[in-house]
Amino acid sequence: MTDNPLLAPSDLPYGLPLFDRISDEHFLPAFETALAEHRAEIAAIVDDPEPPSFENTIVALECSGQLLHRVSQILFNLTAADANDARRAVQTEIAPRLAAHSDAVHLDAALFARVDAVHARRDELDLTPEQDWLLHRTHVAFTRAGAGLPEDKQARLRELNEELSRLETRFQDNLLADTNELAVLVSTRDELAGLSDDAVTAAAEAATARGEDGKYLLTLGLPSAQPVLASLENRDLRKRVFTASVSRGGRGNEHDNKEILATIARLRAERAAVLGYPNHAAYAIEDQTAGSAEAAVSMLERLAPAAVANANAEAAELQEDLAADGVEGELQPWDWAYYAERVRKRRFDIDDAALRPYFELERVLVDGVFHAAGKLYGLTFAERSDLAGYHPDVRVWEVFDADGGPLGLYLGDFFTRDAKRGGAWMNNLVEQSRLLGQRPVVVNNLNITKPADGEPALLTYDEVTTLFHEFGHALHGLVSDVEYQSLEGTNVPRDFVEFPSQVNEMWALWPEVLANYARHHRTGEPLPQETAAKLEEASRYGEGFRTTEYLAASLLDLAWHTIGPDAEVDDVDRFEAEALQKAGVALATVPPRYRSTYFAHVFSNAYAAGYYSYIWSEVLDAESVEWFRENGGLARENGDRFRAELLAKGGSVDVMEAFRAFRGRDPQLQPLLERRGLTAA
Ligand SMILES: [Zn+2]
Repeated sequence: MTDNPLLAPSDLPYGLPLFDRISDEHFLPAFETALAEHRAEIAAIVDDPEPPSFENTIVALECSGQLLHRVSQILFNLTAADANDARRAVQTEIAPRLAAHSDAVHLDAALFARVDAVHARRDELDLTPEQDWLLHRTHVAFTRAGAGLPEDKQARLRELNEELSRLETRFQDNLLADTNELAVLVSTRDELAGLSDDAVTAAAEAATARGEDGKYLLTLGLPSAQPVLASLENRDLRKRVFTASVSRGGRGNEHDNKEILATIARLRAERAAVLGYPNHAAYAIEDQTAGSAEAAVSMLERLAPAAVANANAEAAELQEDLAADGVEGELQPWDWAYYAERVRKRRFDIDDAALRPYFELERVLVDGVFHAAGKLYGLTFAERSDLAGYHPDVRVWEVFDADGGPLGLYLGDFFTRDAKRGGAWMNNLVEQSRLLGQRPVVVNNLNITKPADGEPALLTYDEVTTLFHEFGHALHGLVSDVEYQSLEGTNVPRDFVEFPSQVNEMWALWPEVLANYARHHRTGEPLPQETAAKLEEASRYGEGFRTTEYLAASLLDLAWHTIGPDAEVDDVDRFEAEALQKAGVALATVPPRYRSTYFAHVFSNAYAAGYYSYIWSEVLDAESVEWFRENGGLARENGDRFRAELLAKGGSVDVMEAFRAFRGRDPQLQPLLERRGLTAA
């Protein structure tokens, strides 16, 4: 396999992977080679006859595993953005082996002895601040993985990690199967009154794909609140969709997740105990900016009363609309989105369909997103049609810094397709590192409906915001300026990483930026000023519901991850109900954004005891938005400060110290409370 294009660094500009030469059968042999190479590199560090030093141990570790890292980045990018059976099969095979490999490195006693010896002399080594931080972070990574524990405990850790990875995969598989099985089949088009023509067509196609020609299939998205509920006029159908949504993974059939998730929670608690922590949340959050589970819980509980009061006020208004429709009885959870959408339209006179012609993708990107980055950071962008991504829809831009020097590559993959998972995200393909001589290559993925040939792609306002958000993550990677790859850009604590991307959303509605991009794609007319103003107001409507469903899910996550290793939860529904009750967020009409049985973020992804992160980051976001406003907004000196103090440093410093240096004070809660209308508490 000497011709395997994954095995050598790409010779394309910026190390852009050779996508046109990589085929799926290259991955497994490349992983075999990469794992062996990393093992050999680790053995060489361990067997070095020289006494352990920062260079021969910490830097050597940092430089090891480059091939493995590169192959993993490419595969995981493809399984998210352009999956097929072959790629998924490679991932299924390789994921547990990568986990075991990581354990083998971190639980290697001789290797840890060297890391520990360097760390013990930390104060005598005369390191730069970034070197010192790398040493600290490397030592933390080893100790948190269980290095230094006695052998019997390490053996138990390996078992627990393996068992957990198996159960987490089963949770995900069950959820996928039950979600597909619970999609709601509708016999007549009449029942779909209220749905747009596009959505009806999609439902008809989905039914056909299942062999139900002539019928309509409403598929389910991940959260409790299904988007389709906002437009379905038929109340019985709304009830069917809602009931299907909240019953996923908890029906007692072969896809039931209750026992699995209770076991996951218990095994995580046991793993935390082996590592010396009272519960999983204590273990997970210790290494986050929140610092402790108590700090996270206490902030969520502080926000809850006002959020619930707002949700109740919203419910009262919706109840009036329900009654005006001649419907007797109480507002039900399946009524909420439908009546909320009606109130929003009436109050703000906002019609999403009428707005879309003003939000053409090309203008939003070039005259909005890129324009703002130019004003703030002096960046310029040149499309490189000579460079190809992994799919014909992927576009490549070369990014130049303020002085005209090269900065990196930005890949945009904006359109939805079956092979792409839902949502929007940023990935690194190459991470910035001065030591390795690497400039960044980053990708943004969105799921915008692809227009017919020759037609412009018109976005909803939500999609506009999403593009600004994801580009905020891209900026974090692009302007990163650090020595060590593992400390670059978005390699920051999870409860910090959403902060720069949330801040970048502020420019979507910034008058100068909006005026530059929001123009009718045919007439060139600017978006009317009064519509722009209403857009901002309307985007705030419904914060009571949104904040409450979010807090409920976050508190539920923390309830599951503060149980001890001896806890026996035999009734998942009761555990959930009691947790929500105790936290004061049990509203009959506002279910948590995810119920336990389909809470994939925390039972099969990396967000265990971490769902609180979004609002935790938003405190810093709201603080920073206020700082930009107070200092004149969209200006180079403001952007340069944000870049120098925060974006460029990535994870090479204590990020909260960086935040304080930028903001000039400890973060305060007030701007967030005002933004979310929570000041009444
Ligand atoms: Zn994000």
